[in-house]
Amino acid sequence: MSTTVQHRPGGFPTGPVTGDESGGDAPATALLIGHDWRAGSTAATFPTRNPANGRVLADVAAASDSDVDEAVRAAGTALADPAWAGLPKPALAKLLWRVADLVEANADELARLETLDNGQPLGVARNVSVAATAEHFRYFAGWTTKIQGSTGPVADPDVFHYTRREPVGVCALITPWNFPMMIAAWKLAPALACGNTVVLKPAEQTPLTTIRLVELCQEAGFPPGVINLVTGGPDVGRALTRHRGVHKVSFTGSTAVGQEILRTSADDLKRTTLELGGKAPMIVARDADIDAAVHGAVHGALFNSGQVCAAYSRFYVDRARADEFAEKVAALAAGLQLGPGLSPGTELGPLITQEHVDRVDRDVRRGVAEGAELVTGGRRSAGDLSAGYFYEPTVFTGVRDDMALAREEIFGPVIPILTYDDADELVARANDTDYGLAASVWTRDVSTAHQLAAAVRAGAIFVNMLHVPDAAGPWGGFKASGVGREMGPAAIDAYTEIKGVFMNLRQESA
Ligand code: NAD
Repeated sequence: MSTTVQHRPGGFPTGPVTGDESGGDAPATALLIGHDWRAGSTAATFPTRNPANGRVLADVAAASDSDVDEAVRAAGTALADPAWAGLPKPALAKLLWRVADLVEANADELARLETLDNGQPLGVARNVSVAATAEHFRYFAGWTTKIQGSTGPVADPDVFHYTRREPVGVCALITPWNFPMMIAAWKLAPALACGNTVVLKPAEQTPLTTIRLVELCQEAGFPPGVINLVTGGPDVGRALTRHRGVHKVSFTGSTAVGQEILRTSADDLKRTTLELGGKAPMIVARDADIDAAVHGAVHGALFNSGQVCAAYSRFYVDRARADEFAEKVAALAAGLQLGPGLSPGTELGPLITQEHVDRVDRDVRRGVAEGAELVTGGRRSAGDLSAGYFYEPTVFTGVRDDMALAREEIFGPVIPILTYDDADELVARANDTDYGLAASVWTRDVSTAHQLAAAVRAGAIFVNMLHVPDAAGPWGGFKASGVGREMGPAAIDAYTEIKGVFMNLRQESA
């Protein structure tokens, strides 16, 4: 007796993807253009792999330039469609809220899929990625009914002036691989709440949860063409950012690609929001609760195996506390359990790809060559984990400001420890970087906390806590860490244009 495997529109079997799809029977995913889920026009695909074992999870549709063009046109058509443009705001709020409900109803499947595709431990996928995705849709559902213009006096008392907040238009949303679904939600929820239409492009390494999220948005009832999905690599991103039908690009990823996007956007002055790389300093003052700071350092640096834009990645410790701090950090880091994200007890999952493991290892070798002292880690994992992309948590002491370990974004499980002697020198050193996304301060003294929070140039300062973004708190970088802000009221600015209306109130003609 033969059985037929049923597929959802995006290409997944109706049961959850199991992670055992090696051997030619991996599901093939689809693009969403207008209301059609379909293969790419060239029928080309590329694999996405489980970083815990290197096996292929799915064959992903590779969008061509003409697919991108169709997706942008579908989004442009939907923008003016009364089903979308005329949707009452309370109905829009309900749609966004329904997405959050559907994300929660499918939380186990989504978390499992994120762990399989990205590698993050299942608890992180469930409690951070899935939870934050639902939270962002709910937060921005609330905004739909509160996006307001204003009135203000202009010079002529017979002119009534008011402003309207209007959608920017077609938004290209381009996301990275480190928190694929959550970062898609950071963009999708506010873009939709402001009445825009979108073409979403997830990272080629981790497209699966984004495809599933788009299926859930469709199930929630968004009109056709409002949300379009194209999958592929940098060429698909370039085709989107070059397209004249795109009015705004919201991009999260590396600084180099962000710079390229800014240059391309200059041609037709597309609006841009760029969330880019980071090299967050963590400052440990003499009076800090050292055990709390050690916990904050290890988890702030190694969360998601260090593949976090805001990861604490250079540690300035008061010289009087440095030995104790380094000893405890090394012991805690070395004791963390590495393993596949689906295995119970796993605290650190794999890195995203073999190339990324090679890059991290090269940065570690360079640190050793530059004279830093390797205290623990510094190598790929062996034994049972050798088929996956695992790297041991690594701690360096004796790091100097001019070493690459202290200057470049490694995006891996590496903790470089430096020391400082006085506060004035400390601020100058913390700010001596091209980046400015996040920073952390550990102290019991409220004046030290506020002074450092004011003096360090970064978009978010975390005092005595881990780097936890919040839907309500603006997120983005100073300097090479980005342009603009996501989340909170700032996201409404980012996804709307302001129009001023001037009305002559005089009876006689002007
Ligand atoms: P990446 O820049 O290589 O890729 C990000 C996305 O851009 C992917 O979807 C990719 O396909 C696409 N892309 C690549 N080249 C492109 C081009 N020329 N034009 C248009 N699109 C293009 O980044 P990554 O390696 O996926 O992610 C890691 C980086 O992301 C790190 O630097 C990290 O700090 C940063 N990041 C920043 C934040 C933040 O909020 N600031 C959050 C997460 C990650």
